[in-house]
Amino acid sequence: MELLSEEQKFIIEVVGHVLPFKVNNYVLDELIDWKNFETDPMYLLTFPQKGMLSEDHFNEVAHWLKKGTDKYALKPVVDRIRLDLNPHPAGQKEQNVPSVHGIDLPGVQHKYNETMLFFPRRGQTCHAYCTFCFRWPQFVGISDLKFAMNETNLVIDYIKAHPELTDLIFTGGDPMIMSTEVFAAYLNELLEADIPHLKNIRIGSKSLTFWPYKYTTDPGAKELLDLFRKVNESGKHLTFMAHFNHPVELSTPAVAEAIKNIRETGTQIRTQAPVMKGINDDGDLWAEMWRKQTTMGCVPYYMFVARDTGARDFFAVSLDNCYEIFRKAYSQVSGIARTVRGPSMSAAPGKVQVLGKQEIMGQEVFVLNFLQGRNPDWVGRPFFAKYNPDAAWLDELEPAFGEDEFFYERESVPQETLS
Ligand SMILES: *Cc1c(COP(=O)(O)O)cnc(C)c1O
Ligand code: SF4
Repeated sequence: MELLSEEQKFIIEVVGHVLPFKVNNYVLDELIDWKNFETDPMYLLTFPQKGMLSEDHFNEVAHWLKKGTDKYALKPVVDRIRLDLNPHPAGQKEQNVPSVHGIDLPGVQHKYNETMLFFPRRGQTCHAYCTFCFRWPQFVGISDLKFAMNETNLVIDYIKAHPELTDLIFTGGDPMIMSTEVFAAYLNELLEADIPHLKNIRIGSKSLTFWPYKYTTDPGAKELLDLFRKVNESGKHLTFMAHFNHPVELSTPAVAEAIKNIRETGTQIRTQAPVMKGINDDGDLWAEMWRKQTTMGCVPYYMFVARDTGARDFFAVSLDNCYEIFRKAYSQVSGIARTVRGPSMSAAPGKVQVLGKQEIMGQEVFVLNFLQGRNPDWVGRPFFAKYNPDAAWLDELEPAFGEDEFFYERESVPQETLS
């Protein structure tokens, strides 16, 4: 950290007042290359940068900090800036909140038929924070924007009432920030409830990048692995959805051992990440990452497009470039790594994949496809948008061939799910 100039430290202080900042020794010592830190992907992934705020926002916070304003006096300014940063893209907060026995479950999202997200109350932080995170409002204490709950019993009742649900995803934050004891309390209750239609339990986590010791030498590591084994032995499938942005995250002895230990419990590790400018906007890098993951026994799963939130402008990669990066990577890995799908936008109507770029009857178009839809009938029906080299999200695309709406915009959806 001595490498940072006074100016860099001040930038971190300014941006860190608005966006979350947290890092640990493992990331500092094992993942960041301090010889070239200013362009190092892991440095950009964890350290706030000036360009992550607009000039106006940056200058405003800098102005007050230079005057010695304390955190509390600065809070209204910071809150207003945060609200400008689209803290809940794709209507995450208002939509998809289910209820059971007439009680809202604010820590649950049920958007796609088979799959439910669960934000356990104690899993709302992470071992370190990604500067591009779209869950950032959860860490920065705008309390009414926070998803959270600890009502495992309500979750169980909800799953029981929804036989179409096969998958429960523990998410956050990072659910693996929880101690083994707390996580076991959730899982044991779930297993005891013995719900036959619940087949797969998923854990979405970046802990293999930020703190692999969770599965090796940490207190509770052995018990955690035993718990994973227990889930698999109960006849349900436990899958670990690991967030990896860069091959370097797979390079340490600690992560190799953690992956091996998790796999030995019968848990399958699947991998996913967004494309981020300056971190991983390079097809060869993705190919290397997918090859490495496959060799380590992990299954490449999703490549995402960056969401429109937080420091989005700093990291945005156009759909056109995301698609080229995907194609370049996908075309050079063997079939067993081509389990991956993308690039995909988790947008309000669903997960929309950029399938390709084509010229049809003299018009350049993007070919798009729903990998998941708010309406399951939308899935797997390719559709077309006018080619736009600058578009970075679905709402920047227009239908091709003179249509005035995309097909899914014509179809009725239940009132409460309209954005
Ligand atoms: C991505 C996502 C899921 C999981 O979708 P899969 O395609 O089954 O991995 C579930 N809920 C929401 C809201 C999602 O964005
Ligand atoms: S690990 Fe996930 S939830 Fe945590 S900061 Fe990174 S992207 Fe956000």
